Amino acid sequence: MEQSFKERKNKLTLFKTLRHAIKEKQGRDIPDNVFITCPKCKASTPSESLMHDLYVCPECGYHYKLSARERVRQICDRGSFSAIDKNLVNVDTDAFPGYTEKIDSCQRQTGMSEAVLTGIGKIGGKKTAVAVMDSRFMMASMGSAVGERITRLIELAAKKRLPLVIFCASGGARMQEGIISLMQMVKTSAALERFSEAGGFYLSVLTNPTTGGVSASFATLGDILIAEPDSLIGFAGKRVIENTIKEKLPENFQKAEFLLEKGAIDAIVHRSQMKSTIEKLLVLHERRG
Ligand SMILES: [Zn+2]
Repeated sequence: MEQSFKERKNKLTLFKTLRHAIKEKQGRDIPDNVFITCPKCKASTPSESLMHDLYVCPECGYHYKLSARERVRQICDRGSFSAIDKNLVNVDTDAFPGYTEKIDSCQRQTGMSEAVLTGIGKIGGKKTAVAVMDSRFMMASMGSAVGERITRLIELAAKKRLPLVIFCASGGARMQEGIISLMQMVKTSAALERFSEAGGFYLSVLTNPTTGGVSASFATLGDILIAEPDSLIGFAGKRVIENTIKEKLPENFQKAEFLLEKGAIDAIVHRSQMKSTIEKLLVLHERRG
């Protein structure tokens, strides 16, 4: 799975050469849509090559946002993941104008029924309770369905004495649900406290971006917190804080690297090392007896 930078560059060069040869010989071009432009360095990379590189830019190392299913593909042992609570959705979405339509549209576009996928899978052969948030679905904001799915997974992990791994990504609490969304912060935190008291191990993986009510609840309550490089992690936005305290904040404020420097997280892990790192942590924290 791991490839050196040189290997990745060689592969990319080969693809570009082939693409050119096809164009010369057959007078046709490979459609542009197989090339993806990096939001950070603007380099174009073939989508197939990008998928092979776990959606990390070969030029600058930018970690693309992943769908929940792609994350499961990268982390869980092949074919081992079994989803739970897929049909658990909000029942009352009429209170906020346009909310029902927004949910419908996200469901159609993403193929997800809500912003988090939960289930049981194996990581390095170890049975694990896994939750993955999907930022394509309303910025993975936390409403009642997301909070309930996470809470049920924590309770299932406690009951089955499984370790818990949550891949966090979120714009925060879902404002369309008002106070109900804020209550999910309390509910998930209380469930984690019970899980912890019962001896459970919880690894939280913070991905870009993890903000608002999710960062202020279950995302930062892990026994171990690891983050992907360059992830934005924080509660309120940088500009809001600057306006409130009337001070200029450092350039990399709320970036994973800044948080590591300040001791707020335990490690930054490149995506190519993520599965092997989690496997090692699960072995180290395995429950005995
Ligand atoms: Zn790049």
